[in-house]
Amino acid sequence: MSSKFPLSYYVDGLRNGNIAVLSRAITLIESTRTDDKLQAAELIDTILPYTGKSIRIGITGVPGVGKSTFIESFGMNLVGQNKKIAVLAIDPTSAITKGSILGDKTRMEQLSVHPNAFIRPSAASGSLGGVTYKTHEAILLCETAGFDTIIIETVGVGQSETEVSHICDFFLLLMLAGAGDELQGIKRGIMEMADGMVITKADGGNELKAKSARMEYARALHFFPPQPSGWIPEVKICSAYEHTGIEDVWTMITKQIHYHISNGFFQKKRDEQNIFAFQRLLNEQLRNLLFSKPGLTEKIQQIEEEIAAGTISPYSAVRLITG
Ligand code: GDP
Repeated sequence: MSSKFPLSYYVDGLRNGNIAVLSRAITLIESTRTDDKLQAAELIDTILPYTGKSIRIGITGVPGVGKSTFIESFGMNLVGQNKKIAVLAIDPTSAITKGSILGDKTRMEQLSVHPNAFIRPSAASGSLGGVTYKTHEAILLCETAGFDTIIIETVGVGQSETEVSHICDFFLLLMLAGAGDELQGIKRGIMEMADGMVITKADGGNELKAKSARMEYARALHFFPPQPSGWIPEVKICSAYEHTGIEDVWTMITKQIHYHISNGFFQKKRDEQNIFAFQRLLNEQLRNLLFSKPGLTEKIQQIEEEIAAGTISPYSAVRLITG
């Protein structure tokens, strides 16, 4: 069966900033149907000339740190400056629990109804290709639809951050004051990847704690290896409730973007992102090719039984499959 809409429907709709078409286009690129995949690839190739002009911001932090409240305040501030904001929320848990940390509450009430904002929760595809599976393509679609600031939100609980840092220009880590790093489940490696950190909820008597956390993290960042671009990550404090410190975060982001544009790292990062996308697509395609072999699933099952019985080693078992 062929896809429901012709290519021109997507291309024209996106170029006109039509949100309904953007939603459908994201559904198309997320589809696993063979005919949809072909059309999705054609669509991405066609829109490439209209992409690349946004600022791509990755935002992460443990559940409860205040991501959605922050994005609401931050996003409302930006739409107030006539910017167009797209929020792509990746929920790595949804593939496992079938529920959703990101989706089970009313999030970003004002931003979600603003005409210059687009919010799209997106279930991660679990182990098949990781959490940024198709997020890079979703970014390109949003850019074609005229969004100039793209926020990629992810729950900071796993490897997702590493992947998100591969698809954004600025990687922002939200932290709570007063809860130890271990408590927050934030690994040192994730802090090392951050271009900036924000201590959330600096209000209601929590301001001093937030300020001292800021100093502690700033000191900790000092001991990390310097970023290859020479950018020195900054630590800010904010309250999304009181809308304080939100502007500072935007100032920090634009400062890094300008710095990276001036020293060539902006383009270098984008080039690396393309290579990352290529590697991901190649992996996906190789996997598809392999699994299109008839009877492979049964064969794998049988081999796994033999491995468990100790009659074959995992190494020779792989050779039995790949030939
Ligand atoms: P997420 O799970 O990281 O998206 O966090 P939420 O944005 O849902 O916030 C988690 C909890 O922290 C909610 O109860 C919010 O009302 C609260 N919260 C978020 N931002 C702030 C803030 O700026 N100040 C205070 N005091 N509480 C906040």
